[in-house]
Amino acid sequence: MSENVVWHPGTVSEEQRHELTGGPGVTVWLTGLSGSGKSTIARELEAALFKRGRLGYVLDGDNIRHGLNGDLGFSREDRTENVRRVSEVAKLMCDAGLVAIVPVISPYRSGRAGARASHVERGLRFLEVYVDTPLEICEERDPKGLYKMARAGEIEEFTGVSDPYEEPTDSDVHIETVNVSVQRGVELILESLDRFERQTS
Ligand code: ADP
Repeated sequence: MSENVVWHPGTVSEEQRHELTGGPGVTVWLTGLSGSGKSTIARELEAALFKRGRLGYVLDGDNIRHGLNGDLGFSREDRTENVRRVSEVAKLMCDAGLVAIVPVISPYRSGRAGARASHVERGLRFLEVYVDTPLEICEERDPKGLYKMARAGEIEEFTGVSDPYEEPTDSDVHIETVNVSVQRGVELILESLDRFERQTS
């Protein structure tokens, strides 16, 4: 935290905000290898929430790297900072009463744990979803042609190929996309959100 900076509360209360947004915010954090299905599931989740009258917004890792995180590369340090910044943006959206949907590889356990801890510290809700797809399948799908480039040595520090992915062991939702359709994956997240809502309301 910067020095001599004080959190400024708003005039509109949290409860008032929730009247408009339909409830307290929550961050749905999707972690998994590139090509595992995070963005696909995130978009469908956003659409499903919209149908239910909840405003979700996808904080796409790649899109954020165009702007806010445009100065970051893929070193361990930069990946950690990437996750920290995305998490901070998600916290603001969550505080506003929205559903922040965050599909980012977030390969390190420590980064994901940090994102969760900083939400919890501020009394914000956080749901971790592991989009679990074996590397071979991600490589077969290769929706952006990135694995091909990584195998050809054209991309360095590529998760799963030349950089580690630390598998989650305590996710709130585990989606094995080889056996679970996109639609079913979204349902599993919605069910978990509903359970979460009941526990925390
Ligand atoms: P990521 O965001 O994790 O890099 P994408 O969502 O961009 O991955 O790409 C995943 C690809 O896998 C898409 O082309 C998607 O249609 C496909 N796919 C096949 N089956 C599934 C599934 N069950 N869940 C999610 N994606 C799937």
